[in-house]
Amino acid sequence: MAYNSLSNGLAVLDEEGRARYAALVEGTQPQLDHPVDRGLLEGRFIIPEKFNELAYLKTLHLRDRYATDNWNLTICPTIDCNFGCDYCFQLHQKSRMGQPVQAKLLELFAQKAPHLSRFDVTWFGGEPALAWDVVQKLSQGFLDIARNHGVEYGASLVTNGYLLDEEKVADMISHRIHLVQITLDGDVAYHDQRRHLLSGEGTFEQILANLHLFRDQPIFVQIRINVDARNREGVPVLLKRLAEEGLAHLENIRVYFAPVTSTTPPSHGVNGFCFTPKDFAQLEPEYFSLAESLGLGTIPYPSLQLGGCIATRPEGFVVEPDGSLQKCWDTVGQPEYAVGNILEYDPSRIAENPIYQRWMSWDPFAKDLACSSCSWLPTCMGGCPLRVAFPETMPEGKLELECTTFKWNWKRTFTLLAERANGAEPIPRSCTG
Ligand code: SF4
Ligand code: SF4
Repeated sequence: MAYNSLSNGLAVLDEEGRARYAALVEGTQPQLDHPVDRGLLEGRFIIPEKFNELAYLKTLHLRDRYATDNWNLTICPTIDCNFGCDYCFQLHQKSRMGQPVQAKLLELFAQKAPHLSRFDVTWFGGEPALAWDVVQKLSQGFLDIARNHGVEYGASLVTNGYLLDEEKVADMISHRIHLVQITLDGDVAYHDQRRHLLSGEGTFEQILANLHLFRDQPIFVQIRINVDARNREGVPVLLKRLAEEGLAHLENIRVYFAPVTSTTPPSHGVNGFCFTPKDFAQLEPEYFSLAESLGLGTIPYPSLQLGGCIATRPEGFVVEPDGSLQKCWDTVGQPEYAVGNILEYDPSRIAENPIYQRWMSWDPFAKDLACSSCSWLPTCMGGCPLRVAFPETMPEGKLELECTTFKWNWKRTFTLLAERANGAEPIPRSCTG
């Protein structure tokens, strides 16, 4: 097998193919009518001598990061939460997005709409279901504007899943929320220990019951399983429970695994339990393998990460209930990282903000960063930019790259893929910002 991260292509070569590849690497001229040569060229396993892969990748990166025909916002209708998870990176506050901020969001979208082909919203929080009427009203407004201007509109929702009901699922469908992320951290004992209500009461059984609301609905549900040293043993138990509950072999429900991280001060308390990306990479293929055998997931395949996350795009913002504009999901509720307020939206003023400038200066191609010479750059793009642009937020106060786990588990993962040979899905990044 040969993998190329720039094309994201995987080739399986037989004896003849391997011999052909070796000859081409030695300098034999490729024959375009030879199927092996053509495949190797298309997959960029061999490249013309003068082709600069890094310059090409940087071009794709800049084109994607600074594209102006699509807009991506994360909106927090509230940053209040009904849960008291011990690893949460946010500082929650009683809050609710008021009418002026909602009106300004609609006004801005209406201004931009004639120049956009696509607008994507992620509903985030706190817990967005606590301010569901805001989600409803804004969604309807966005849909109307999108329809009037022929803009493609879609949304996703990050929720703890506790407050969902049939009406909310019906709302999601009518408001084009096509992707929902819900977290379970183990079977009841593991999950309730750390994802409990503020009162301490467990939440597992209610979330499990609510997952059934999505059966046969046109909404894709990602069950996120956050793993650290405390619940690693609980993951297989959870997977078996989900299968027993009839949530396996459904077209629209899949699990994925993410390491617990402690990127900002509110979550530094759990740092001692967190896996390094390298350690997590050893667990991941085994979890996915079990999930796949139970009909709950698919062995993941890398996906190209060209432009970077919302935080590093000029117009990418996380809008807080009072209109404060953050760049990053993990700094929500921390006013010192806000770059402006939507009520006084002025791109020129925002460009003067030093925090904004630090985000925009993030450069995964910088010569002093290991990423610029890393083979995984096209499918990782430097990992989470917060760690590079704001290393002081990390527990040790210094730069810690969040390398893609494929860097360490690609052999195992690709071997599993070849054994299963039944397709693969891209793995969601641990933060979908
Ligand atoms: S990937 Fe990192 S920088 Fe981007 S939104 Fe997520 S936490 Fe923030
Ligand atoms: S974060 Fe790590 S894996 Fe990703 S591009 Fe940089 S060095 Fe490579």
